[in-house]
Amino acid sequence: MHPSDCQVTVIGGGAVGAAAAYFLANAGYREVQLLESGALGSATTGQAAGLLGQSRTTLERTKLAMASAKFFRNFEVDLGHTADWRETGSLRIAMSAPAIAELRSIAAIASAAGLDVHLIEAAQVQELCPTLEDVSSISLALWVPSDGYVQPNSLVNAYIAAAKDLGVNVCTHTSVLDVEITDGAVSGVVTNRGRISTKLLINAAGPWAGALARKSGIELPIVPVLHEYFVTEPQAGWHSGLPNLRIPEIAIYARGEGRGILCGGFERNGTSIDPTEVDVGTALPDTPNWEVLGQFAEQFKRFVPSVVDAGILTAFHGWPGFTPDGRFIVGPVAGIKGYVMAAGCNAHGVSGSAGLAKHLVESLSAQVSPYVESLSPNRFIPRTWQWSSARNQAQAICENYYPMPSLPQ
Ligand SMILES: Cc1cc2nc3c(=O)[nH]c(=O)nc-3n(C[C@H](O)[C@H](O)[C@H](O)COP(=O)(O)OP(=O)(O)OC[C@H]3O[C@@H](n4cnc5c(N)ncnc54)[C@H](O)[C@@H]3O)c2cc1C
Repeated sequence: MHPSDCQVTVIGGGAVGAAAAYFLANAGYREVQLLESGALGSATTGQAAGLLGQSRTTLERTKLAMASAKFFRNFEVDLGHTADWRETGSLRIAMSAPAIAELRSIAAIASAAGLDVHLIEAAQVQELCPTLEDVSSISLALWVPSDGYVQPNSLVNAYIAAAKDLGVNVCTHTSVLDVEITDGAVSGVVTNRGRISTKLLINAAGPWAGALARKSGIELPIVPVLHEYFVTEPQAGWHSGLPNLRIPEIAIYARGEGRGILCGGFERNGTSIDPTEVDVGTALPDTPNWEVLGQFAEQFKRFVPSVVDAGILTAFHGWPGFTPDGRFIVGPVAGIKGYVMAAGCNAHGVSGSAGLAKHLVESLSAQVSPYVESLSPNRFIPRTWQWSSARNQAQAICENYYPMPSLPQ
């Protein structure tokens, strides 16, 4: 499609932009257009594992994640397009006393939220996931039968199809080069395919969202941090219907992908990019860190010794945007009418896309809850923080994604 003048312009065709376009159109916004510089889902979203875990460390986050799972479960029936939701269940494994205490606390929160969870022993873990070759180090596990994952590209395509059903204009290979602001309000965007008028701009440019905002004088700490996983060649017994596995003490997650093992993690010494050096339209480094991926395999071999000898089929990697407080950045920017953020996903922008897009719609309404208000970009405006410490804090959010003391080696 060709870009044209419109009321609402969503920049970015990843999970967040696609969800935003659908939810805005569904909320009654008219003349919504989505501009994506490459192909849909071709950046961070296309690299994601798609995991959705509902059991969290706070009641609020647990309820939000439950709402997301419900949304994905009913996606096809409600929207008429499939996001390939797989309700495989998940197992969160504990080996040491602090991890057991965390599991018990999470289980209590889950029960308070009405989420069906079960604390189980190693033998039951192996029954649910027979591909775990060695369960001797498992002290306890949390089984969440209604957890699962989406296929990120299917999710984006489904949001886009549903958005198009509501009349949204979707233009790929259209890069926003600059945003026009007239008398303190968004008036248009300049693209590689010409200039268009628009009144409401949603910046959902993923790891480039901070760079795009900076062009309009908005400084927001959205820090790209490297995250990656590998998928092995087919291994006996593995398949896509096995439960998602999370092992916080070694900061590893895994699931079946096709007939292979998908295994990723959060390294304790992460790699981030100085956000002030990210530019609109420039590519981010595109090489996986094989040393780190090797460390993930070494950690996971405690449960699946054969993983270290398995051939690697492919490595997925990208630079999800992290924030210093680990929270989304959603809502209107003070001082520029019509400039709205939908970014800073802290590596849960696929599973959190529907929730984030709902918050976005709410942030534009007359009734904004304290929770949604707390996600506002204005918590970082004006800039009283330093770029270097904001970068360090955001990177630390990724490194401590599972806030657990490491096991002694
Ligand atoms: C290896 C890996 C595993 C992950 N696993 C999970 C997981 O299991 N669960 C989960 O929820 N999340 C996961 N994530 C995180 C998730 O991928 C991100 O949080 C999510 O994809 C962010 O979506 P987004 O739409 O904000 O960003 P993106 O997908 O990066 O989309 C932003 C889009 O904006 C476009 N764009 C940028 N600038 C412009 C411009 N100027 N003009 C037009 N278009 C522009 C880009 O081309 C891009 O397509 C993972 C990430 C990685 C890297």
